[in-house]
Amino acid sequence: MSFWDLIYQKKCLGCGRVGQYFCDQCLKTGEISDECFNNHLSLFCYRGLIREAIKQLKFRFLKDIEGELKQLIESGLRHKLTQPNTDLFREFLALKPVVQPLPLHWFRENRRGFNQAELIGQIISRQLRLKLIDRLERVKLTTPQSRLPREERLTNVKDIFQVKPGHLPKSILLIDDVWTTGSTMREAIKVLKEKGVREIWGLSLAR
Ligand SMILES: [Zn+2]
Repeated sequence: MSFWDLIYQKKCLGCGRVGQYFCDQCLKTGEISDECFNNHLSLFCYRGLIREAIKQLKFRFLKDIEGELKQLIESGLRHKLTQPNTDLFREFLALKPVVQPLPLHWFRENRRGFNQAELIGQIISRQLRLKLIDRLERVKLTTPQSRLPREERLTNVKDIFQVKPGHLPKSILLIDDVWTTGSTMREAIKVLKEKGVREIWGLSLAR
């Protein structure tokens, strides 16, 4: 244990117990999501430990969380890929899609210091051995979807993405942290389809 471990004690993001970011107890109650529909799937349900972890990640980058996040994502993916309702997703993965995390607007990313969707995308691309790309750009700074009433969310994200110039692959796996109404993901799908991408799936850490 280094001095820094003593200074910054790791605490469970769910219950505050010292030692790990995801303690065994909270992990047991963390719910794996069984949903898979319309070219989208989520690994976990957005409650409890997962909800807290995502919220915390938005406010501060926990430099050493990556190791534990990797394990969490790996167990979520492993579960998903053995579910009978994910056969279409497995067929899609066989196409060797590239991984594209949903970008943040540069202003928000600068302020926060990192993009959590990118961190999740990096981990997933390594685990599935897929290439990671950075071809989407967020051109509008919008109010976070979670702060808006449902009916305003659709117009809030309209035309927020632009595709950077250059050749695009035929199939893309989009990554986001939380799936709320899906309108952000749908906007990204729209601009990519316009540029000729044929197969697109969205994967979020939680819904
Ligand atoms: Zn805990």
